[in-house]
Amino acid sequence: MPNTEHANTPERGILIVGAGPVGLALALALHRRGLAVRLADARPAGAGERDARVLALSHGSRQTLERLGAWPEQGPTPITTIHVSQRGALGRTQMRAEEYGVPALGYVTPAALLYRRLAAAVAAAGIALLHDTAIASLSPTEEGIEASATNGQTFSARLVACCEGAIAGEAGGNVRTRDYGQHAIICRARLAAPHRGIAYERFTPDGPLALLPLADDYSVVWTMPAAQADAQMALDEAGFRAALQTAFGGRVQFVETLERARFPLGLRVRGDAVGRRTVWLGNAAQTLHPVAGQGFNLALRDVWALADTLTGAADPGEPTLLARYAQRRLLDRRSTIGFTDSLVRVFSNDDPLLTHARGAGLLALDLVSPLRHFVAKRMLFGARAWP
Ligand SMILES: Cc1cc2nc3c(=O)[nH]c(=O)nc-3n(C[C@H](O)[C@H](O)[C@H](O)COP(=O)(O)OP(=O)(O)OC[C@H]3O[C@@H](n4cnc5c(N)ncnc54)[C@H](O)[C@@H]3O)c2cc1C
Repeated sequence: MPNTEHANTPERGILIVGAGPVGLALALALHRRGLAVRLADARPAGAGERDARVLALSHGSRQTLERLGAWPEQGPTPITTIHVSQRGALGRTQMRAEEYGVPALGYVTPAALLYRRLAAAVAAAGIALLHDTAIASLSPTEEGIEASATNGQTFSARLVACCEGAIAGEAGGNVRTRDYGQHAIICRARLAAPHRGIAYERFTPDGPLALLPLADDYSVVWTMPAAQADAQMALDEAGFRAALQTAFGGRVQFVETLERARFPLGLRVRGDAVGRRTVWLGNAAQTLHPVAGQGFNLALRDVWALADTLTGAADPGEPTLLARYAQRRLLDRRSTIGFTDSLVRVFSNDDPLLTHARGAGLLALDLVSPLRHFVAKRMLFGARAWP
Protein backbone atom coordinates (compact mmCIF):
# COMPACT_ATOMS: atom_id res chain seq x y z
CA MET A 1 0.00 0.00 0.00
CA PRO A 2 1.43 3.42 -0.86
CA ASN A 3 2.08 5.55 2.17
CA THR A 4 0.61 8.93 1.20
CA GLU A 5 -0.55 10.31 4.52
CA HIS A 6 2.72 12.07 5.34
CA ALA A 7 2.86 13.86 2.01
CA ASN A 8 -0.73 15.01 2.24
CA THR A 9 -0.26 18.51 3.63
CA PRO A 10 1.05 21.27 1.36
CA GLU A 11 4.17 21.78 3.52
CA ARG A 12 5.05 18.11 3.14
CA GLY A 13 4.12 18.00 -0.50
CA ILE A 14 5.23 19.54 -3.77
CA LEU A 15 5.17 23.13 -4.97
CA ILE A 16 5.05 23.42 -8.76
CA VAL A 17 6.48 26.67 -10.10
CA GLY A 18 4.82 27.49 -13.43
CA ALA A 19 1.34 26.51 -14.56
CA GLY A 20 1.98 26.14 -18.27
CA PRO A 21 0.99 22.85 -19.91
CA VAL A 22 3.83 20.95 -18.22
CA GLY A 23 3.18 22.28 -14.70
CA LEU A 24 -0.56 21.62 -15.04
CA ALA A 25 -0.02 18.06 -16.32
CA LEU A 26 2.42 17.38 -13.49
CA ALA A 27 -0.06 18.67 -10.90
CA LEU A 28 -2.71 16.27 -12.21
CA ALA A 29 -0.32 13.31 -12.32
CA LEU A 30 0.93 13.88 -8.75
CA HIS A 31 -2.56 14.52 -7.39
CA ARG A 32 -3.77 11.26 -8.95
CA ARG A 33 -1.01 9.47 -7.02
CA GLY A 34 -2.21 10.95 -3.73
CA LEU A 35 0.53 13.56 -3.33
CA ALA A 36 -0.24 17.04 -2.01
CA VAL A 37 0.49 19.61 -4.67
CA ARG A 38 0.16 23.38 -5.19
CA LEU A 39 0.86 25.51 -8.25
CA ALA A 40 2.18 29.07 -8.42
CA ASP A 41 2.28 30.98 -11.70
CA ALA A 42 3.67 34.42 -12.46
CA ARG A 43 0.97 35.30 -14.95
CA PRO A 44 -2.68 36.18 -14.40
CA ALA A 45 -5.40 33.53 -14.82
CA GLY A 46 -6.12 32.57 -18.43
CA ALA A 47 -2.81 33.85 -19.87
CA GLY A 48 -2.06 30.39 -21.31
CA GLU A 49 -5.09 30.71 -23.56
CA ARG A 50 -3.17 33.24 -25.65
CA ASP A 51 -0.40 30.74 -26.56
CA ALA A 52 -0.09 30.90 -30.37
CA ARG A 53 1.81 27.59 -30.66
CA VAL A 54 0.35 24.49 -32.19
CA LEU A 55 1.54 21.16 -30.79
CA ALA A 56 1.92 17.79 -32.47
CA LEU A 57 1.23 15.21 -29.77
CA SER A 58 2.32 11.61 -30.07
CA HIS A 59 0.00 8.65 -29.64
CA GLY A 60 1.75 8.04 -26.29
CA SER A 61 0.98 11.63 -25.17
CA ARG A 62 -2.67 11.13 -25.99
CA GLN A 63 -2.71 8.06 -23.76
CA THR A 64 -1.08 10.02 -20.91
CA LEU A 65 -3.48 12.95 -21.25
CA GLU A 66 -6.44 10.57 -21.31
CA ARG A 67 -5.25 8.99 -18.06
CA LEU A 68 -4.99 12.48 -16.58
CA GLY A 69 -8.54 13.29 -17.70
CA ALA A 70 -7.23 16.15 -19.83
CA TRP A 71 -7.43 14.94 -23.42
CA PRO A 72 -9.43 17.49 -25.43
CA GLU A 73 -12.09 15.23 -27.00
CA GLN A 74 -13.06 17.87 -29.54
CA GLY A 75 -10.33 19.63 -31.42
CA PRO A 76 -7.15 17.60 -31.98
CA THR A 77 -6.68 16.59 -35.63
CA PRO A 78 -5.29 13.09 -36.28
CA ILE A 79 -2.12 12.63 -38.36
CA THR A 80 -2.54 9.47 -40.39
CA THR A 81 0.58 9.78 -42.57
CA ILE A 82 3.92 11.54 -42.08
CA HIS A 83 5.71 12.43 -45.28
CA VAL A 84 9.40 13.37 -44.96
CA SER A 85 11.37 14.87 -47.85
CA GLN A 86 14.00 17.43 -48.69
CA ARG A 87 14.01 20.23 -51.20
CA GLY A 88 16.28 19.69 -54.19
CA ALA A 89 16.93 15.99 -53.59
CA LEU A 90 15.22 12.73 -54.42
CA GLY A 91 14.85 10.98 -51.09
CA ARG A 92 11.54 10.82 -49.32
CA THR A 93 9.83 8.50 -46.88
CA GLN A 94 6.31 8.00 -45.58
CA MET A 95 5.01 6.47 -42.37
CA ARG A 96 1.39 5.41 -42.08
CA ALA A 97 -0.67 4.83 -38.94
CA GLU A 98 -2.09 1.52 -40.15
CA GLU A 99 1.42 0.03 -40.32
CA TYR A 100 1.71 0.53 -36.55
CA GLY A 101 -1.75 -0.59 -35.51
CA VAL A 102 -2.65 2.82 -34.08
CA PRO A 103 -5.57 5.06 -35.10
CA ALA A 104 -3.17 7.96 -35.75
CA LEU A 105 0.57 8.59 -35.69
CA GLY A 106 -0.08 11.75 -33.71
CA TYR A 107 -2.53 14.57 -33.10
CA VAL A 108 -2.32 18.28 -33.73
CA THR A 109 -3.83 20.68 -31.24
CA PRO A 110 -3.57 24.39 -30.52
CA ALA A 111 -1.52 24.77 -27.31
CA ALA A 112 -4.23 27.14 -26.05
CA LEU A 113 -6.89 24.41 -26.29
CA LEU A 114 -4.71 21.95 -24.41
CA TYR A 115 -4.02 24.59 -21.76
CA ARG A 116 -7.74 25.21 -21.30
CA ARG A 117 -8.42 21.49 -20.91
CA LEU A 118 -5.58 20.98 -18.43
CA ALA A 119 -6.55 24.06 -16.40
CA ALA A 120 -10.16 22.84 -16.22
CA ALA A 121 -9.02 19.40 -15.00
CA VAL A 122 -6.78 21.01 -12.35
CA ALA A 123 -9.70 23.16 -11.14
CA ALA A 124 -12.04 20.14 -11.11
CA ALA A 125 -9.53 18.19 -9.02
CA GLY A 126 -9.49 21.02 -6.46
CA ILE A 127 -5.74 21.63 -6.84
CA ALA A 128 -4.67 25.04 -5.49
CA LEU A 129 -3.37 27.33 -8.26
CA LEU A 130 -2.10 30.80 -7.35
CA HIS A 131 -1.79 33.30 -10.20
CA ASP A 132 0.24 36.54 -10.18
CA THR A 133 2.75 34.69 -8.00
CA ALA A 134 6.27 34.80 -9.45
CA ILE A 135 8.71 32.68 -7.46
CA ALA A 136 11.98 34.60 -7.11
CA SER A 137 14.12 32.39 -4.88
CA LEU A 138 14.40 28.85 -3.52
CA SER A 139 16.19 27.84 -0.31
CA PRO A 140 16.58 24.08 0.14
CA THR A 141 17.50 22.51 3.51
CA GLU A 142 17.87 18.93 4.70
CA GLU A 143 14.20 18.70 5.61
CA GLY A 144 12.46 20.85 3.04
CA ILE A 145 12.57 23.83 0.73
CA GLU A 146 11.32 27.41 1.06
CA ALA A 147 10.14 29.40 -1.96
CA SER A 148 9.67 33.17 -1.95
CA ALA A 149 7.51 35.04 -4.41
CA THR A 150 8.01 38.64 -5.56
CA ASN A 151 4.61 39.52 -4.04
CA GLY A 152 5.97 38.65 -0.57
CA GLN A 153 4.34 35.23 -0.22
CA THR A 154 6.45 32.34 1.01
CA PHE A 155 5.86 28.61 0.62
CA SER A 156 7.25 25.56 2.40
CA ALA A 157 7.37 22.20 0.65
CA ARG A 158 9.41 19.02 0.52
CA LEU A 159 10.07 19.36 -3.20
CA VAL A 160 9.84 22.17 -5.75
CA ALA A 161 9.15 21.17 -9.36
CA CYS A 162 10.32 23.98 -11.62
CA CYS A 163 8.15 24.16 -14.75
CA GLU A 164 8.71 27.83 -15.49
CA GLY A 165 9.23 27.36 -19.23
CA ALA A 166 12.82 28.63 -19.50
CA ILE A 167 16.26 27.89 -18.14
CA ALA A 168 17.29 30.71 -15.84
CA GLY A 169 20.62 32.47 -16.37
CA GLU A 170 22.00 31.41 -12.98
CA ALA A 171 21.97 27.74 -14.01
CA GLY A 172 25.48 28.58 -15.35
CA GLY A 173 27.84 25.72 -16.21
CA ASN A 174 25.12 23.12 -15.83
CA VAL A 175 23.54 24.33 -19.07
CA ARG A 176 24.49 23.34 -22.62
CA THR A 177 23.34 25.73 -25.33
CA ARG A 178 23.43 25.77 -29.08
CA ASP A 179 22.31 28.72 -31.15
CA TYR A 180 20.96 27.38 -34.46
CA GLY A 181 20.69 30.94 -35.76
CA GLN A 182 17.12 30.08 -36.72
CA HIS A 183 13.69 31.48 -36.04
CA ALA A 184 10.36 29.72 -36.57
CA ILE A 185 7.53 31.47 -38.33
CA ILE A 186 4.27 29.79 -37.53
CA CYS A 187 0.98 30.44 -39.31
CA ARG A 188 -2.19 28.78 -40.46
CA ALA A 189 -2.66 28.01 -44.16
CA ARG A 190 -5.94 27.43 -45.95
CA LEU A 191 -5.77 24.81 -48.69
CA ALA A 192 -7.05 24.25 -52.21
CA ALA A 193 -7.70 20.54 -51.45
CA PRO A 194 -8.27 18.50 -48.24
CA HIS A 195 -5.12 17.42 -46.38
CA ARG A 196 -6.35 13.84 -45.71
CA GLY A 197 -4.47 13.75 -42.41
CA ILE A 198 -1.04 13.95 -44.05
CA ALA A 199 1.68 15.82 -42.14
CA TYR A 200 4.76 16.97 -44.05
CA GLU A 201 8.26 17.48 -42.77
CA ARG A 202 10.32 19.08 -45.53
CA PHE A 203 13.99 19.82 -45.02
CA THR A 204 15.33 22.88 -46.83
CA PRO A 205 18.87 24.31 -46.68
CA ASP A 206 17.52 27.18 -44.54
CA GLY A 207 15.79 24.91 -42.04
CA PRO A 208 12.90 22.44 -41.75
CA LEU A 209 9.38 23.31 -42.85
CA ALA A 210 6.53 21.34 -41.28
CA LEU A 211 2.87 21.23 -42.26
CA LEU A 212 0.59 19.82 -39.56
CA PRO A 213 -3.07 19.11 -40.32
CA LEU A 214 -5.29 21.24 -38.07
CA ALA A 215 -9.04 21.08 -38.71
CA ASP A 216 -9.37 21.86 -42.45
CA ASP A 217 -6.09 23.81 -42.62
CA TYR A 218 -2.40 23.26 -42.21
CA SER A 219 -0.55 24.66 -39.25
CA VAL A 220 2.83 25.74 -40.65
CA VAL A 221 6.12 25.73 -38.72
CA TRP A 222 8.74 27.24 -41.03
CA THR A 223 12.27 27.65 -39.71
CA MET A 224 14.84 29.93 -41.28
CA PRO A 225 17.74 32.27 -40.44
CA ALA A 226 16.78 35.30 -38.35
CA ALA A 227 17.38 37.87 -41.10
CA GLN A 228 15.20 35.92 -43.51
CA ALA A 229 12.48 35.71 -40.88
CA ASP A 230 12.58 39.54 -40.61
CA ALA A 231 11.97 39.75 -44.35
CA GLN A 232 9.20 37.12 -44.38
CA MET A 233 7.40 38.75 -41.47
CA ALA A 234 7.44 42.08 -43.34
CA LEU A 235 5.75 40.67 -46.47
CA ASP A 236 2.07 41.17 -47.16
CA GLU A 237 -0.15 38.06 -47.19
CA ALA A 238 0.17 37.37 -50.93
CA GLY A 239 3.95 37.78 -50.89
CA PHE A 240 4.35 35.57 -47.84
CA ARG A 241 2.09 32.90 -49.29
CA ALA A 242 4.07 32.88 -52.55
CA ALA A 243 7.34 32.50 -50.61
CA LEU A 244 5.88 29.65 -48.57
CA GLN A 245 4.66 27.94 -51.73
CA THR A 246 8.12 28.20 -53.30
CA ALA A 247 9.82 26.87 -50.17
CA PHE A 248 7.44 23.93 -49.85
CA GLY A 249 6.95 23.01 -53.51
CA GLY A 250 3.87 21.84 -55.38
CA ARG A 251 2.59 18.90 -53.29
CA VAL A 252 0.13 21.20 -51.49
CA GLN A 253 -1.52 24.39 -52.79
CA PHE A 254 -2.02 27.21 -50.28
CA VAL A 255 -4.88 29.66 -50.88
CA GLU A 256 -4.50 31.91 -47.82
CA THR A 257 -2.24 32.30 -44.79
CA LEU A 258 -3.32 33.69 -41.42
CA GLU A 259 -2.07 34.35 -37.87
CA ARG A 260 1.67 34.71 -38.55
CA ALA A 261 3.85 34.64 -35.40
CA ARG A 262 7.55 34.16 -34.78
CA PHE A 263 9.74 32.32 -32.22
CA PRO A 264 13.54 32.36 -31.85
CA LEU A 265 14.97 28.81 -31.74
CA GLY A 266 17.90 27.27 -29.97
CA LEU A 267 18.88 24.36 -27.80
CA ARG A 268 19.20 24.84 -24.05
CA VAL A 269 19.67 21.77 -21.92
CA ARG A 270 20.11 21.59 -18.17
CA GLY A 271 22.66 18.82 -17.57
CA ASP A 272 21.15 17.67 -14.28
CA ALA A 273 17.38 17.88 -14.23
CA VAL A 274 17.39 17.28 -10.46
CA GLY A 275 19.05 19.21 -7.64
CA ARG A 276 18.62 19.64 -3.90
CA ARG A 277 14.91 19.20 -3.27
CA THR A 278 14.36 20.53 -6.78
CA VAL A 279 13.44 18.99 -10.12
CA TRP A 280 13.14 20.73 -13.50
CA LEU A 281 10.69 19.65 -16.19
CA GLY A 282 9.51 20.82 -19.60
CA ASN A 283 11.21 23.83 -21.17
CA ALA A 284 12.82 24.56 -17.79
CA ALA A 285 14.80 21.31 -18.20
CA GLN A 286 15.35 21.42 -21.96
CA THR A 287 14.24 23.82 -24.66
CA LEU A 288 14.37 22.04 -28.02
CA HIS A 289 14.05 22.99 -31.67
CA PRO A 290 10.47 22.18 -32.75
CA VAL A 291 11.65 20.19 -35.80
CA ALA A 292 10.30 16.83 -34.70
CA GLY A 293 7.66 18.12 -32.25
CA GLN A 294 9.36 16.47 -29.28
CA GLY A 295 9.38 19.15 -26.53
CA PHE A 296 6.02 18.69 -24.85
CA ASN A 297 5.92 14.98 -25.66
CA LEU A 298 9.23 14.43 -23.84
CA ALA A 299 7.97 16.56 -20.93
CA LEU A 300 4.86 14.40 -20.56
CA ARG A 301 6.99 11.26 -20.31
CA ASP A 302 9.04 13.01 -17.60
CA VAL A 303 5.83 13.99 -15.79
CA TRP A 304 4.55 10.43 -15.82
CA ALA A 305 7.83 8.95 -14.60
CA LEU A 306 8.20 11.51 -11.80
CA ALA A 307 4.69 10.87 -10.52
CA ASP A 308 5.35 7.14 -10.70
CA THR A 309 8.66 7.44 -8.83
CA LEU A 310 7.18 9.59 -6.06
CA THR A 311 4.09 7.45 -5.48
CA GLY A 312 3.76 6.57 -1.82
CA ALA A 313 6.79 8.63 -0.76
CA ALA A 314 6.69 10.04 2.77
CA ASP A 315 9.22 12.67 1.64
CA PRO A 316 8.93 13.41 -2.11
CA GLY A 317 12.11 15.53 -2.06
CA GLU A 318 14.29 12.77 -0.69
CA PRO A 319 17.58 12.71 -2.67
CA THR A 320 17.60 8.99 -3.48
CA LEU A 321 14.12 9.26 -4.99
CA LEU A 322 15.17 12.19 -7.17
CA ALA A 323 18.30 10.32 -8.25
CA ARG A 324 16.15 7.31 -9.15
CA TYR A 325 13.89 9.50 -11.26
CA ALA A 326 16.87 11.11 -13.05
CA GLN A 327 18.37 7.70 -13.76
CA ARG A 328 15.07 6.41 -15.10
CA ARG A 329 14.78 9.31 -17.53
CA LEU A 330 18.41 9.45 -18.65
CA LEU A 331 18.17 7.43 -21.87
CA ASP A 332 14.96 8.95 -23.22
CA ARG A 333 16.02 12.47 -22.34
CA ARG A 334 19.49 12.16 -23.89
CA SER A 335 18.31 10.37 -27.00
CA THR A 336 15.35 12.69 -27.66
CA ILE A 337 17.57 15.75 -27.28
CA GLY A 338 20.25 14.14 -29.50
CA PHE A 339 17.69 13.03 -32.12
CA THR A 340 16.22 16.55 -32.38
CA ASP A 341 19.62 18.26 -32.40
CA SER A 342 21.04 16.00 -35.11
CA LEU A 343 17.95 16.40 -37.31
CA VAL A 344 18.46 20.17 -37.28
CA ARG A 345 22.20 20.05 -37.86
CA VAL A 346 22.30 17.36 -40.54
CA PHE A 347 19.34 18.69 -42.50
CA SER A 348 19.78 22.45 -42.20
CA ASN A 349 22.58 23.20 -44.62
CA ASP A 350 23.24 23.02 -48.34
CA ASP A 351 26.61 21.20 -48.39
CA PRO A 352 26.27 19.13 -51.65
CA LEU A 353 27.82 16.04 -50.05
CA LEU A 354 25.40 16.20 -47.18
CA THR A 355 22.48 16.83 -49.53
CA HIS A 356 23.33 13.66 -51.37
CA ALA A 357 23.84 11.68 -48.16
CA ARG A 358 20.54 12.99 -46.79
CA GLY A 359 18.69 11.97 -49.94
CA ALA A 360 20.28 8.54 -49.74
CA GLY A 361 19.36 8.41 -46.06
CA LEU A 362 15.70 9.16 -46.73
CA LEU A 363 15.58 6.62 -49.54
CA ALA A 364 17.21 4.07 -47.27
CA LEU A 365 14.65 4.89 -44.63
CA ASP A 366 11.91 4.18 -47.12
CA LEU A 367 13.45 0.95 -48.28
CA VAL A 368 14.73 -0.46 -45.03
CA SER A 369 11.67 -1.23 -43.00
CA PRO A 370 13.27 -1.77 -39.56
CA LEU A 371 14.97 1.64 -39.71
CA ARG A 372 11.74 3.35 -40.72
CA HIS A 373 9.82 1.56 -37.99
CA PHE A 374 12.41 2.67 -35.48
CA VAL A 375 12.05 6.33 -36.50
CA ALA A 376 8.25 6.05 -36.54
CA LYS A 377 8.19 4.48 -33.09
CA ARG A 378 10.43 7.23 -31.75
CA MET A 379 7.89 9.73 -33.08
CA LEU A 380 5.06 7.71 -31.51
CA PHE A 381 6.42 6.75 -28.14
CA GLY A 382 9.89 8.24 -27.48
CA ALA A 383 12.41 5.98 -25.78
CA ARG A 384 10.14 2.96 -25.90
CA ALA A 385 11.34 2.78 -29.51
CA TRP A 386 14.61 1.35 -28.16
CA PRO A 387 14.71 -2.41 -27.94
C1 LIG B 1 7.16 27.09 -32.64
C2 LIG B 1 7.11 25.97 -31.64
C3 LIG B 1 6.46 24.78 -31.97
C4 LIG B 1 6.44 23.70 -31.07
N1 LIG B 1 5.85 22.54 -31.46
C5 LIG B 1 5.83 21.48 -30.61
C6 LIG B 1 5.21 20.26 -31.00
O1 LIG B 1 4.71 20.12 -32.12
N2 LIG B 1 5.19 19.22 -30.11
C7 LIG B 1 5.78 19.33 -28.88
O2 LIG B 1 5.75 18.34 -28.12
N3 LIG B 1 6.37 20.48 -28.48
C8 LIG B 1 6.41 21.55 -29.31
N4 LIG B 1 6.99 22.72 -28.92
C9 LIG B 1 7.53 22.80 -27.56
C10 LIG B 1 6.41 23.12 -26.55
O3 LIG B 1 5.77 24.30 -26.96
C11 LIG B 1 7.01 23.27 -25.18
O4 LIG B 1 7.73 22.11 -24.85
C12 LIG B 1 5.95 23.45 -24.10
O5 LIG B 1 5.01 24.42 -24.47
C13 LIG B 1 6.62 23.87 -22.83
O6 LIG B 1 5.67 24.05 -21.82
P1 LIG B 1 6.12 24.53 -20.37
O7 LIG B 1 4.93 24.33 -19.50
O8 LIG B 1 7.42 23.90 -20.01
O9 LIG B 1 6.44 26.09 -20.53
P2 LIG B 1 5.49 27.35 -20.73
O10 LIG B 1 4.34 27.05 -21.60
O11 LIG B 1 6.39 28.48 -21.14
O12 LIG B 1 4.91 27.67 -19.28
C14 LIG B 1 5.72 28.20 -18.25
C15 LIG B 1 4.84 28.83 -17.19
O13 LIG B 1 5.68 29.21 -16.08
C16 LIG B 1 5.29 30.50 -15.62
N5 LIG B 1 6.46 31.11 -14.94
C17 LIG B 1 7.61 31.55 -15.50
N6 LIG B 1 8.47 32.01 -14.56
C18 LIG B 1 7.83 31.85 -13.36
C19 LIG B 1 8.18 32.12 -12.00
N7 LIG B 1 9.36 32.67 -11.68
N8 LIG B 1 7.28 31.85 -11.03
C20 LIG B 1 6.06 31.31 -11.34
N9 LIG B 1 5.69 31.02 -12.62
C21 LIG B 1 6.56 31.28 -13.60
C22 LIG B 1 4.84 31.22 -16.87
O14 LIG B 1 3.96 32.28 -16.53
C23 LIG B 1 4.14 30.10 -17.65
O15 LIG B 1 2.77 30.02 -17.35
C24 LIG B 1 7.05 23.81 -29.79
C25 LIG B 1 7.69 25.01 -29.45
C26 LIG B 1 7.73 26.08 -30.36
C27 LIG B 1 8.45 27.35 -29.97
